[in-house]
Amino acid sequence: MARATTLTIDLDAIAHNYQIAKARAPAQQALAVVKANAYGHGAIDVARKLEPDVPGFAVACIEEAVELRDAGVRKPILLLEGFFTADELDYICRHNIWTAVHNDFQLDAITSANLAEPVNVWLKLNTGMNRLGFSPDAYRLAYQKLKDHPQVSGITLMSHLTSADNLTSIETRRQVERFNSVYRDCPTPRSIANSAGTMKHPTALQDWQRPGIILYGSSPFTGKDEIQARLKPAMTLTSEVIAVHELQPGEAIGYNGTWVCERPTRIGTVAMGYADGYPRQAKNGTPVLVNGQRTQLIGRVSMDMLTVDLTGLDAGLGSAVELWGKNLLANEVAPWCDTISYTLFTGITRRVHRKLKCCEGH
Ligand SMILES: *Cc1c(COP(=O)(O)O)cnc(C)c1O
Repeated sequence: MARATTLTIDLDAIAHNYQIAKARAPAQQALAVVKANAYGHGAIDVARKLEPDVPGFAVACIEEAVELRDAGVRKPILLLEGFFTADELDYICRHNIWTAVHNDFQLDAITSANLAEPVNVWLKLNTGMNRLGFSPDAYRLAYQKLKDHPQVSGITLMSHLTSADNLTSIETRRQVERFNSVYRDCPTPRSIANSAGTMKHPTALQDWQRPGIILYGSSPFTGKDEIQARLKPAMTLTSEVIAVHELQPGEAIGYNGTWVCERPTRIGTVAMGYADGYPRQAKNGTPVLVNGQRTQLIGRVSMDMLTVDLTGLDAGLGSAVELWGKNLLANEVAPWCDTISYTLFTGITRRVHRKLKCCEGH
């Protein structure tokens, strides 16, 4: 009695994937990155599931941390971009939030504020991303200012890798070298590895890893690698066939007729469109599963629907459709949409019904 368009989240898969990341450096720590609503998987559900196993979480901004605190999540939460205005500091120091400090504004705000509790700072070094962080010289000065400051309870040296997913690039090695050379003057705990760094760059394994995408079961590499084989996809996006048409050669499908049938074609219309978060950029040929059988998208994705080739398939009205998930990797779909699994996951909209795998059948 409802549109079938559904996102199913497997929290056990996320717990499993966390252990895969953790096992890379069992004696060290791994924060679970749950920014952007846990990459579209539901930050509260994911954080509650992982909380017994993790030392803490990472989010982008205070709004995301407040959501978790209001839901009763107690472990430390790191703000990866730090705070944006000084008035956030009061909440930060009262709620066990850790903050990145990447610019002079944040540095001055902490040293000049009158805080109820000292804050835990992740002082960010720019090692080559050229997005956030202090240059090495500015870092050393910032470190001196914070080192013995009464309003600072601890400092972690933090940076971010630009190319860890590219195993032929030498950039990771260069970044880790810059990172370690600053560490020699500023000996504190260190953190540089994202998922790709955690899985494939032993020199990037430092005191704290920060895995994100692999928690959700998607390899940061090609998606057909040995790491993918050990991960469990946590998000499955499904719908159903709501109309079937038999078309003759020469007939076109959908807006602007971007697919013209060359042979008698049986098409299925699926209740899934770009307003649900399925990318409009998906090209003819994008893989789709119907009743577990592999077929392809044909015709342009519209706001509420898309069309697939059912010719020769055991499928019809009401057939189950998987757009990506357990049986069709997001990493396989993403290149057909000129993107990566991260944007597929974070793009699902609120019109899509969400359910947890444990509640299937209810
Ligand atoms: C998002 C993010 C991560 C996690 O990256 P993945 O590629 O998803 O593992 C780690 N560190 C920082 C600073 C981030 O912004």
